[in-house]
Amino acid sequence: MEQFLEYVEKHERDFIERLRKAVAIPSVSGDPAYRPEVFRMSEFLVAELKALGASVETRDLGKQNWHGQELDLPPIVLATVGNDPSKKTILVYGHYDVQPALIEDGWNTSPFELVEDDQDRLVGRGSSDDKGPVLGWINVVEAHKSLGLELPVNLKFCLEGMEESGSEGLDALIYDEASKYFKDVDAVCISDNYWLGTTKPCLTYGLRGVSYYHMKIKGPRADLHSGVFGGTVHEPMTDLISVMSKLVDPNGKILVPGIYDEVREVSPEEEKTYDNLDFKIEELHDAIGNKTNIHDSVRKTLQCRWRNPSLSLHGIEGAFYNPGDKTVIPACVTGKFSIRTVPDMEPKKISELVVKYCKDEFAKLGSKNEIDVYCTHDGNYWLSSPEHPNYVAAAKAVETVYKVKPDLTREGGSIPVTLSFQDALNKNVLLLPMGRGDDVSCTALVFSSHSDE
Ligand code: MN
Repeated sequence: MEQFLEYVEKHERDFIERLRKAVAIPSVSGDPAYRPEVFRMSEFLVAELKALGASVETRDLGKQNWHGQELDLPPIVLATVGNDPSKKTILVYGHYDVQPALIEDGWNTSPFELVEDDQDRLVGRGSSDDKGPVLGWINVVEAHKSLGLELPVNLKFCLEGMEESGSEGLDALIYDEASKYFKDVDAVCISDNYWLGTTKPCLTYGLRGVSYYHMKIKGPRADLHSGVFGGTVHEPMTDLISVMSKLVDPNGKILVPGIYDEVREVSPEEEKTYDNLDFKIEELHDAIGNKTNIHDSVRKTLQCRWRNPSLSLHGIEGAFYNPGDKTVIPACVTGKFSIRTVPDMEPKKISELVVKYCKDEFAKLGSKNEIDVYCTHDGNYWLSSPEHPNYVAAAKAVETVYKVKPDLTREGGSIPVTLSFQDALNKNVLLLPMGRGDDVSCTALVFSSHSDE
């Protein structure tokens, strides 16, 4: 271990140079103009892995239909380092594509040039999400190889180039390779999220799910003029606002009856994980840009983000939203809202409760309009066990390097690939973030940098 840590310290500049080369490739998956760069990035990784003696394969994912235009999907890079049957095999997932970045978006420096700022941070698109973490693993392999040290586990890599654009083709590949390339995998490790704060590493063991709903209210055949029809017809927008206002109260309490019935109680062990978290309420203020937080305590705030359900209203399709005054009565409007779900809520049951409640509340209005409420997509929550050997090993490793026990955290959003690996491989999945909590805001506009909606 000593030898390894010494090597890492000594080769810091080399690691930074490797990251500089990676950041310089603008592998933006969401913009067709950059598609060749995404391919170039995959070739960069293949070369790096091969140079370290890994056996590398790529999987062609075929074509993508991008608004009528046919584009080649970047390959999945699969690599294996070591195949000793007496060792455990860890599958590392990462992505080599990035979100778009323009200097006009508010960057202080050119986004695809790695810069070392005055606070000793490395700034550049992808430095933390997710090129840095991917290269982190490659650096580990390099250090072992150079020192002639044996890795304690076999490593397999699964690196994709479409994460920021819906991971097209990934799920099918994971299920397809579950009994082939991933056959001997004992556990999975994903480094694609962030520490909670800026000083202490964490292990993430839970994510909320999301169920998205449309509530459509239909009335007259076409839009009407309020001067002629106002006061004479049931207006769809009035009905919609009325029902939407009954979904959640201003303090975040969901008003759908039965919605909290399946929410798991906080156990004493879980309660303890909130004791020493690296998070201050001021960090929430910084993130939201003011002090409109509902709860004053860190504990309550994080529990509401990580382990309690929430309902958010997102928008109304068909409503007049341009500047100025317009006296239209919209003929048909669709309200959009979603629920973040937590253990042990079942998406199917939640949808039944939501649909029934909306229809009941609508019926109470006595309106002659028509309502339709439906779930447009849902994804389950994910919860792992911090007692699993995969987590125990990660906690030990973090403590060895950082001299501090990692926080145990969850996240309020979702990272769909986590569930895909768990379901397809039926193995423990660990989220081991490498980036600090402020990496998102210092490299780009807040919220623009993750794949989750
Ligand atoms: Mn990412």
